[in-house]
Amino acid sequence: MSALPVPLNVYADHQATLQLHTDYGPAPLPVPNSTRSFWIDTPGANPLASEGSEGSLTADADVCIIGSGITGVSAAYHMGKLLKGPETSVQPLKVVILEARDFCSGATGRNGGHLTPIAFRDFRPAATAHGTDEALRWLALERHTATEIVKIIQEHELEQTVDLVEGGHIDLMFTPEEVADMKADYEAAKEAGVDLNNVRWFDEAEMKAQHGTAYPGVRAPGHNLWPLKFVTELYKLAASSPQLSLALHTRTPVTAVSLAEGTEDSSLSRRWTVTTPRGSLACSYVLHATNAYASHLLPHLRGPAGIIPTRGQIIATRANTTTEVLSRSSFSGNEGFEYWFPRPIKESDVSGYPLVILGGGREAATPAYELYVADDSAVSADVSDVLRKFLPAVFPGKYEEGHEPEMEWTGIMGFTASGDPFVGPVAGTSKEDIAESFKGQYISAGYTGHGMPRAFACAEAVSQMIAADFMGRDWVIPEWLPRHYVTDL
Ligand SMILES: Cc1cc2nc3c(=O)[nH]c(=O)nc-3n(C[C@H](O)[C@H](O)[C@H](O)COP(=O)(O)OP(=O)(O)OC[C@H]3O[C@@H](n4cnc5c(N)ncnc54)[C@H](O)[C@@H]3O)c2cc1C
Repeated sequence: MSALPVPLNVYADHQATLQLHTDYGPAPLPVPNSTRSFWIDTPGANPLASEGSEGSLTADADVCIIGSGITGVSAAYHMGKLLKGPETSVQPLKVVILEARDFCSGATGRNGGHLTPIAFRDFRPAATAHGTDEALRWLALERHTATEIVKIIQEHELEQTVDLVEGGHIDLMFTPEEVADMKADYEAAKEAGVDLNNVRWFDEAEMKAQHGTAYPGVRAPGHNLWPLKFVTELYKLAASSPQLSLALHTRTPVTAVSLAEGTEDSSLSRRWTVTTPRGSLACSYVLHATNAYASHLLPHLRGPAGIIPTRGQIIATRANTTTEVLSRSSFSGNEGFEYWFPRPIKESDVSGYPLVILGGGREAATPAYELYVADDSAVSADVSDVLRKFLPAVFPGKYEEGHEPEMEWTGIMGFTASGDPFVGPVAGTSKEDIAESFKGQYISAGYTGHGMPRAFACAEAVSQMIAADFMGRDWVIPEWLPRHYVTDL
């Protein structure tokens, strides 16, 4: 077995390091010259890239959504569904999405492409921190998200368009500590009544025979897909809703959200002025779907008590064997620090060997773990080095050593100390501190590098809150929503 190029069992050190920084400030705006990602920069992949970036800016909207990643676009989609009904059918809701760069060019356009709801991993720490019911809801939200996304794709026959693959997900365990933790989480989840019938364990010999790696693994349901293409289709569905008048302005950074003049009187409906270099908009509701960048507009959300920009790095590298040998599964290993999957074979894959999307390597980086790094215009040389060595070490002979990747890029994740997102009305630094001065502003952000199976449902919850307020009703909390995600509970 080759030595692995990354440090192992460092999650506890990562969490301690996250708290150590003292010199953090608010996040900057997204940098304009980001690295080129496979998902965004493959020709034809981003038809909405510059949508609404020229001409006049929408001046007035019921809801301003800041950010066009999976959160912002999912929110628009849900609003189109939620506002169906006689009381809202007279006037469609005016929703505008404002995006600093090209459409969906943040984390969603630069990520690892996994849509993997957690099956049981980390069940014990979640139950210890928040109780068993909350741990069960945490898993339920992820299952709900994945099920709904797959349902939308299937209902609209988009499987080929978004390259949906139901390959399952295998967690590789590199150390005895990882095996022990995983087994204990499995037992605890089973004990709490989680259905684990779809989970299968493989020992070293089985993994060697089936996948060419000598590490044990555990397999659970999961998909991989082209996230930007899914979000593009979701935007089209939202735009086709008769209940919405939806506008999108890309290349339009929001530089401030402030109380509209004269709106000390909170009954005024267009309470917020949203400022951009192209002009300003008057809005009743503002949704911060800015994830890693949230503290730019909400500076009190900076630092370990808020949302920490954290840079992730990915390579697209060619395997040295076929998908049949590798399997169509997505994988992760080393407590989730590394994650990878083979893309479906396309005509352009002349060798017949798949392109593999591999992310990780933050454990080898300086500054430590790429925490508090918000610049996706550059890659880390430390991370580049270990990513090139990782797959040849884990799957000897299946990847050529020294082979250069076809693309390499970075993206900025939004980490929280707890790992959980903030969902709901914008709050201060504690749940008790919901300021009247933020009334009408909402947030769904801070998915800690694991947003694909969470953002769609968190956006659903926050859209329900906005819709309920708009229609003068009480919000009914969905059973699947962890109460500890909600900012004002
Ligand atoms: C390298 C990497 C790998 C990842 N791999 C996975 C994975 O495999 N599976 C998984 O589940 N998750 C993964 N994630 C995490 C996942 O991509 C995110 O959790 C998810 O995409 C967050 O979606 P979002 O819409 O909230 O944020 P984003 O997609 O980042 O969207 C926020 C948008 O807001 C815009 N914005 C910010 N500030 C402003 C402003 N002031 N004005 C206007 N616009 C603004 C940004 O430009 C951006 O487009 C990964 C992330 C990265 C970076």
